[in-house]
Amino acid sequence: MLTKAKGFLQSYFGFDEFRRGQDTIIRKVLEGEDTLGVMPTGGGKSICYQIPALSLRGITIVVSPLISLMKDQVDALEKAGIPSTFINSTIKGAEMRERMSGLYSGKYKLVYIAPERLETDYFLRLLEEVHVSLVAIDEAHCISQWGHDFRPSYLLIRKLINKIKPKPTVLALTATATPQVREDIRQLLDISADNTIVTGFERENLRFHVVKGQNRDLFLTDYVQKNSGQAGIVYAATRKEVERLYQLLKAKGIGVGKYHAGMSEKQRDRYQEQFLYDDIDVMVATNAFGMGINKSNVRFVIHYHIPRNMESYYQEAGRAGRDGEESDCILLFAPQDSHIQSFLIDQSEMDEHRKENEFGKLRKMMAYGHTESCLQQYILHYFGEEDPPVCGKCGNCTDDREQVDVTVEAQMVLSCIRRMNERFGKTMIAKVLTGSADHKIRSFGFDRLSTYGIMKDKTQKETTEFIDFLTAEGYLRPTDGSYPILMLTEMAGDVLRGKEKVMRKEKVRIAQIVEDNMLFEVLRQLRKEIADEENVPPYIIFSDVTLKEMSALLPRNEAELMQVKGVGERKLEAYGQAFLKEINKYCEEQGIERPEVGLPIGHTAKQRTGRVSSKEPSHHITYRMLKDGLSIAEIAAERGVAERTIEGHLLKCPADGLEVDWSEFVPKEYEPLIQEAVEQAGAERLTPIKELLPEEISFFMIRAYLEKQKA
Ligand code: ADP
Repeated sequence: MLTKAKGFLQSYFGFDEFRRGQDTIIRKVLEGEDTLGVMPTGGGKSICYQIPALSLRGITIVVSPLISLMKDQVDALEKAGIPSTFINSTIKGAEMRERMSGLYSGKYKLVYIAPERLETDYFLRLLEEVHVSLVAIDEAHCISQWGHDFRPSYLLIRKLINKIKPKPTVLALTATATPQVREDIRQLLDISADNTIVTGFERENLRFHVVKGQNRDLFLTDYVQKNSGQAGIVYAATRKEVERLYQLLKAKGIGVGKYHAGMSEKQRDRYQEQFLYDDIDVMVATNAFGMGINKSNVRFVIHYHIPRNMESYYQEAGRAGRDGEESDCILLFAPQDSHIQSFLIDQSEMDEHRKENEFGKLRKMMAYGHTESCLQQYILHYFGEEDPPVCGKCGNCTDDREQVDVTVEAQMVLSCIRRMNERFGKTMIAKVLTGSADHKIRSFGFDRLSTYGIMKDKTQKETTEFIDFLTAEGYLRPTDGSYPILMLTEMAGDVLRGKEKVMRKEKVRIAQIVEDNMLFEVLRQLRKEIADEENVPPYIIFSDVTLKEMSALLPRNEAELMQVKGVGERKLEAYGQAFLKEINKYCEEQGIERPEVGLPIGHTAKQRTGRVSSKEPSHHITYRMLKDGLSIAEIAAERGVAERTIEGHLLKCPADGLEVDWSEFVPKEYEPLIQEAVEQAGAERLTPIKELLPEEISFFMIRAYLEKQKA
């Protein structure tokens, strides 16, 4: 049964192996078992119903609340050669009738519908006329009142299932369900505990960070500038803050969009489309943005304020790295932000019992901000995993920053606040400490305080940042409201009395998420051109992972391209030649001679990449053999690869600090010739140099010569 499913995985989707949980879920569905699948975002839930849809007779209905995502999903399926459609409130009149009749005549394998459709009898009657084998319920947590996104229309799904004869198989899928919510979904849909597959919530490619006690605007602009060209989302709690951060980033020349409920639908759609189509890099938004975002190459998600619970946080942060590539999820944590969320819960129309539940969740969110242990472990634990391991790569696991004793500065700030009678916010306090000439300060007589100007060697910004740090560490307690007054805590008293020291870590260093890769950029450009022509978002053509694998494996022909992850038969036919042309052109220009891959067609990309990335890098093995005195020809013979492969290995050595004696590979008599050619043609590109030289001087000799000059 699964062999056929695996065949579909390869031919339609271009993937060689099922991900964790996919095979079990698919097997259960094909056996007709009602199933609940809990997999993290980006874990590959869609394939769990798309592949059965191909195998089963009749149609598969996919219920999803994410209307804006449906078009994308259907576009992607059509590109893979799977007939499908969607029906929601955006489809009207003749178009609707056409789709309905297509449904009736068996034109489609998959139909996406919004739950509200289930309210119309017309639609339910139509379903009696067609053969429905599978009902897949995406975002299944929406059925539970205890989830974070309850939707009453989801309760109608039960009615739908009862109406269809013979009874279809049911597959409920979700990424964010605590054990309590899982239980609720099972009860409401009548799914047995044995048929619940939880693959774990871990997202291996996400690196979590909590940044506290630092100026958030500075951090944000630095980070975005350092990672320019990468797609990212910045979440803020209020419309006003979204507007402010949008302006802040725009002023720095960043391609940025904004999204919140106060904007017109047209404006919102325009920015959303620009973001999806890679026309802008960063989207600043409230949590209204993202439910319908399937963009797979989001490289970072920054929360400027804390969200109201861990479910929302993980769902929003989880929009990073759906393609499996390394991505950052950063929370800029300031304890006073919890006031905004408390206020929202308090003002909501929930009953007391639910409010209490929400406050409890908020407290756990706050604890995430405060924790000093592994952040991923905290998240997994929250979602009910027992004994999750530490990740070794989150901000807390990798925190090796030096600690500096800042007790004296802390005492200056704290005593200044005491002298100002604990009645002011951080801006005013910083002004007094830095000796500002602001007339307000004089009018309060603060210029006569002994702490006035006591920190004048610091800027006002640095001082406010230091005050933020003291707040984050619990020495100061902010009051509610947008301009909180700062008051001293018990801990502050201990510092003032000299009983406690205050230690501060250096600032978090900002690193680039992705290394530069020239061919990847070239292929990205090509993808963008095709996407614009076909009017679909770029990631629907190929994901970033696929482009990266192409730029690492450098396929030379269709057979090799087919072995790249994400290249299925239909896409090969549609785009293969265009991508091969760019790769070939690039290799020629750069003088890259591609090694014979030597694997027969049918070997999987995984096997190939597996070979490239065996524990010891292949070029290191080659290097060792060279140092043992073997020639290139001998190494090639021993390792069973072409000499060109070995030459390629040697050229990679300098980047790893492995020294190669290049003169061995450049015959003495050719050196002056090559030197002259380089002087004439420049050293940027190899082909023009090669054209000036006799045939027997190979690309490798030229590159070895250039390496020798560098050394
Ligand atoms: P989810 O709905 O769980 O968030 P998706 O179904 O959108 O995730 O899948 C996320 C990404 O993973 C997509 O780009 C998809 O093509 C890819 N994917 C899914 N299954 C596999 C697989 N078996 N091998 C490689 N990539 C996969």
